Formats: sequence, structure tokens, C-alpha cells
Amino acid sequence: MTDEYRVIVHGTGELTDVTPAQLRELAGRAAELVDAIEAARAGLAGDCHTRHTGYRLADAAGWARQVGADLAATAQDLARLGSRGPATCPAEWGCCPDHGGTLRSSGGRCWCTAPGCGRTWDYDRDGQPCTEPAAYEVRGVGDAPDVWGLLCAGHTITARAQVDGIEVRPLAAAAGGAR
Ligand SMILES: [Zn+2]
Ligand SMILES: [Zn+2]
Repeated sequence: MTDEYRVIVHGTGELTDVTPAQLRELAGRAAELVDAIEAARAGLAGDCHTRHTGYRLADAAGWARQVGADLAATAQDLARLGSRGPATCPAEWGCCPDHGGTLRSSGGRCWCTAPGCGRTWDYDRDGQPCTEPAAYEVRGVGDAPDVWGLLCAGHTITARAQVDGIEVRPLAAAAGGAR
């Protein structure tokens, strides 16, 4: 299993004990609830004396399905966060690897708005910490402008575009592995 380790909560150094597996287990319970509600609904519908009493259960099953979907999506987000290694870009927001801060998202999907890019993601990428490998050392951004920090290729593009006078040098260790 690659996603069952504990996740470092950003900025505190504390570890959370909540795992993707726990969230998937909760999603499984929601799926069981959906099945049980649907069985009850079918049972009521099959009897002429009770069929009208089950009118709420279609909505109830729908809500339970949404609970399961939200839990499963949260498990995926947590697993993605947990996969960030020490050589991952520290930016707190995602970007396009090729174009930087050009993302838009809606309804749990995200896409790059740069002409001709066409990249899409099936999660809220721009609202979650960056998962791209660090590719450059950058000085002149953030709270400590004298300190060299690491950024991925996309965030380096955005930093260059938004901040005057920053210094950028390729990260030698990332030269072979960066996408
Ligand atoms: Zn792009
Ligand atoms: Zn980044």
C-alpha cells in the first residue's frame, strides 16, 4: 500500500492519524446504507398497503450515495497529500506543470486555461498543496526573500511572472527526474 502512512499536516509538524483506508472504510459503510435503504424501499413498494410510505427513501438513498462519494473523494485527496515526498514543491496550491498558475476549477474538476494546453484533473487541484517535484531553487519570493527555496517548474513560471528580480537556478538533483 502506498497511501497508508500518516500525513504531515502542513505547517505544524504534527501527524494526523486519519488514513485514506479509514475514510474508504466509512465510504463502504455508506454504500451498505444505500443498499439497505434501497432494499427497504423495494420492500415497501412491493406491498399495496405500504407502497406510498416509501416516497422519502429515494432521496434518502441519494443522500447516502453522496455521503459515500464525499468520503471516497476525501480519501483520494488525503492519499495524494500523503504521497508528497521531501523533494515535492512546497507551494500550498496546485498549478499546471507546464504553465503555472493558470488553473480553474469547478465541481470537483480542474483544468488549465492556457491556450492549447488541454490538461485536466478530476480533483480540485488548485485548492490543494502542490504535488509536483521541486525543479528549481528560487530566491526573492515569499516571507524570506534572502533565502533560497524550492519550487516546481510550474510555480517557478508563475513566480517569474509575478515577482520582479527573483533569482532562479535549476535544481541539479531534479534535472533527471522532473517532468
Ligand atoms: Zn497548462
Ligand atoms: Zn509547485
